[in-house]
Amino acid sequence: MTRVDQWNEVLSRIHVAEDGAARARGSVALVAVSKTFDADAIRPVIAAGQRVFGENRVQESQGKWPELKAETPDITLHLIGPLQSNKAADAVALFDVIETIDREKIARAVAAEIERQGKPVRIYVQVNTGLEPQKAGITPQETAAFVAMCRDTLNLPVEGLMCIPPADENPGPHFALLAKLAAENGVEKLSMGMSGDFDVAIAFGATSVRVGSAIFGLRDVAVQPA
Ligand SMILES: *Cc1c(COP(=O)(O)O)cnc(C)c1O
Repeated sequence: MTRVDQWNEVLSRIHVAEDGAARARGSVALVAVSKTFDADAIRPVIAAGQRVFGENRVQESQGKWPELKAETPDITLHLIGPLQSNKAADAVALFDVIETIDREKIARAVAAEIERQGKPVRIYVQVNTGLEPQKAGITPQETAAFVAMCRDTLNLPVEGLMCIPPADENPGPHFALLAKLAAENGVEKLSMGMSGDFDVAIAFGATSVRVGSAIFGLRDVAVQPA
C-alpha cells in the first residue's frame, strides 16, 4: 500500500469510529504526524487532500515546512512535542497550533511571542494522565489552576487538552480522564489517540487524533512521544 492508500484507510477507520460513537462524520480531525519523514514523503499526502499535520521537533520542522506551507498555504501545522522556551519564537512563527503547553515558563514565553508576532496560535495544554515521570504534561490535579492561569493571567486561548497515555496501559481510562478535565474546565477540544488507539479515543470524545505510523509507515529512528 502507498502512503496515500494508508491515509485513505485511516480516514475510513475514523469514519467507522465516528459512526460507532454516534458522532457526526467530520467531527474528528486527523492530524497526520510526519515527524522523521522528509518533504518528498509528505507531498503525496498533501496532494491527496490532507491539510493538518503534526511534528514533534521545531528544528526538524523548520527544515521542511516553510517550503511545504509555501506550496500549499492552507496547511495547519501542530507542534505535538516538548517545547523549550528558547524555541518559543521559532515555534510561534512556524506552527498554527501548539499542543504541548505544560509549564508556566513555556506558557509565558509562547504568550509573549504570540503578542510580539501578532500571530493567533491556538493552544492546547498537555496533561500527564498516567503521572509518568519521564513524560511531559501537567498533572490532572493541576489542570484547573493551570488552565485558569493561562487564560486569565496570560490571555492565552486554551482551546484543548492533549494527552499521551502510558504505552503499556489500557488507554480508555486516560481518555475518559482527559474528557472529564476538559468538561470541568470549559475546554472544547481533545487531542488524543495515535495509530494504535485512535478508534478508542474517538469513542471517548477525541476531536482530533494524531496518527503517524499508520499513514507514513514505521519510523527509522525511535522518536517516542514524550
Ligand atoms: C509520534 C507521535 C504520535 C504519532 O504516533 P504513531 O503511533 O506513529 O501514530 C502522536 N502523538 C505524539 C505526541 C507523537 O510524538
